[in-house]
Amino acid sequence: MKKMPEIILLSCYELGHQPVSLGWPLAALNQAGLIASAVDLSVDDFPTDAASTAHLIAIAAPMHTALRLGVDAARRARGLNPNAHITFYGLYAWLNGDYLLHSNGEAALADSVIAGEYEGPLVELARALADGRAAAEVAGISTAGKAAQPHLARLPFPVPVRAPLPSLDQYARYMADNESHLAGYVEASRGCLHTCRHCPVVPVYNGRFFVVPAETVLADIRQQVAAGARHITFGDPDFLNGPGHALKIAEALHAEFPRLTFDFTTKVEHILEHRSLMGQLREAGATFVVSAFESTSKRVLARLNKGHTVAQMDEALAVLADIGLAVQPTWLPFTPWTTLDDYLGMLAWIRSRGLIPSTSAVQLSIRLLVPPSSALLDHPDVDSWRGELDAANFTWRWTHPDPRVDDLARQVARIAEDAAEDADPWAVFAAVEQAAYGLAGRTPPIHPRPTFLPPPPPRLTENWFC
Ligand code: SF4
Repeated sequence: MKKMPEIILLSCYELGHQPVSLGWPLAALNQAGLIASAVDLSVDDFPTDAASTAHLIAIAAPMHTALRLGVDAARRARGLNPNAHITFYGLYAWLNGDYLLHSNGEAALADSVIAGEYEGPLVELARALADGRAAAEVAGISTAGKAAQPHLARLPFPVPVRAPLPSLDQYARYMADNESHLAGYVEASRGCLHTCRHCPVVPVYNGRFFVVPAETVLADIRQQVAAGARHITFGDPDFLNGPGHALKIAEALHAEFPRLTFDFTTKVEHILEHRSLMGQLREAGATFVVSAFESTSKRVLARLNKGHTVAQMDEALAVLADIGLAVQPTWLPFTPWTTLDDYLGMLAWIRSRGLIPSTSAVQLSIRLLVPPSSALLDHPDVDSWRGELDAANFTWRWTHPDPRVDDLARQVARIAEDAAEDADPWAVFAAVEQAAYGLAGRTPPIHPRPTFLPPPPPRLTENWFC
């Protein structure tokens, strides 16, 4: 009888959510009759015993931080079990495949990487290893000797398996009206129709997206509500890439769970294009929307190919205020093209629009990452700003032509690190202003802290949105 391979799936960081990057491959493997264990290293200890005997160790790398932690996990697994096949899957796996698959003076961190719709190739990889076939034979798998393109075939999308995962109380909570609630996380689509140049989705999906069947999404919501979730995050790169699909799911969610609230991410263009839909989503239980405003500099927005203007950001704020839907804008404050004056302009804009309570110091500190294969590298002036590839940190280096901007980035990163979770947002924002105006040799404008403060806007207790 053929021996079943021992498979472990590892997740390292997924923005404080219970990792769907474990739940989906677990479901796909189970459907194929394969058994895997799953460990979220952001919550649980490294599974030393299981890793010592596993045949296949698959590490999720949906984002930069996850890959950084995943590399540490891979080194540890290699040390314990040099014969295990280690694969990385997810956006950052493919972007950094060269680094992961080649030795770099030590044993290669990965034997293979998978990108795009990874579940199918992962199942086939497990089968190939069980049959003694080479990983390189499997479509969608890159190895040291074979570079595969991201696997972009539509999946059957099983309902994610969540029972073996840590409980929802181990993850970020939803805060509203000074109360905290358990939060769940689903994805109603993958990939993105848009091609913002700095976005890691673009090199992998290149303007394509795949919808997850509404019944699958609703079943995933149902199981998380049964586990205690009172709020759901739709973690799609952009929930409104398929507006009809989004509305169908939101209305079905509301019909079944009228008290359940939710948030979603969408771009400024979509807020304006689908303004009547925004009201319908609000009616169905949406309490806030995350939107990548990125910059108040026309030049930087154009460079990023964001597809919106600062005037449209104002218009989007008006649309959302009109229907009573809170917004959490996200920012990309430090790029090679953002001047110190641009940064000051962004701070003034945030303050004048009343967005300080929705702006964490982390958001004000984010510095552009330029992973290998980033669409930013295709720009004709790339040689004027791009430094060396720092493969071990998964980014091309760049320094700002104005050293004060790099200094400010360091200072704001320190302010963000030191800010307690319950820090007064006005005090933190004022500290950032102090640093920025100080470096510009200017006195920060005096703004007394408002004496009457409205309740903090609804949010999740995890500030990273990138
Ligand atoms: S930044 Fe958002 S809208 Fe732009 S390509 Fe990425 S996911 Fe899509």
